[in-house]
Amino acid sequence: MLKIAIMGAMPEEVAPILEKLGGYKTTEYAGNKYYEASYNGVEIVVAYSKIGKVFSTLTATTMIQHFGATKLLFSGVAGAISPSLKVGDLIVATKLSQHDLDITAFGHPFGFVPEGAVFVEADKEMISMSKDVASDMGKVVKEGVIATGDQFIANEERKNWIGDTFNADALEMEGGSVAVVCNALDVPFFILRAISDAADMDASFSFDEFLETSAVISAEFVMKMLDKVIAK
Ligand code: SAH
Repeated sequence: MLKIAIMGAMPEEVAPILEKLGGYKTTEYAGNKYYEASYNGVEIVVAYSKIGKVFSTLTATTMIQHFGATKLLFSGVAGAISPSLKVGDLIVATKLSQHDLDITAFGHPFGFVPEGAVFVEADKEMISMSKDVASDMGKVVKEGVIATGDQFIANEERKNWIGDTFNADALEMEGGSVAVVCNALDVPFFILRAISDAADMDASFSFDEFLETSAVISAEFVMKMLDKVIAK
């Protein structure tokens, strides 16, 4: 049975989604709150994980293994690497990597561990649906690589290194770990981010100023994606 997980990392990222659902049932599990609702006849589970790879791994796994999610959509904000991405712009991840995973001392590439992979690819079908959603909404949505790590990047040099090493267009702190979980558990996933900052010297100020508006931009798009996925 189709059950769709919608996750974010921070309360601001899921609040606009919960608002659209109207009523929901709240369950506390594994130190977090999960919100279940029926939306246009389909079961939905919503949660924010808290920030970073560990919490997002726990939440994605819980949504799938405990709440029975069969597809996962992530909505949130990110720092831009690509100069073409400005605050408020949307990026859909084609594939994701972990920029802070480093056993290069043994001759492996950054982001790689044995039996793992540097990149995990997002679901092609949902990426293609997102193009229709974008054109329905009259929006331009960039497709690109997202790099994830347990660091808030507010440094041009580190940002450029991540961009060069992973050919990444945006960076954040949860997508790469959610990708690993969904891939391992065979659950198609879609990761969308709206830009909140440029991961430079001013990133923390930009983030604070634009978190809410960018989170809403991402959430609105993800709700349209939800309609498309349900209609399919
Ligand atoms: N202001 C928050 C911390 C935010 S951490 C507090 O004080 O509690 C940044 C969050 O937004 C993460 O969830 C991450 O996924 C995303 N993000 C946005 N810009 C980012 C950047 N420049 N570097 C890393 N993550 C970023």
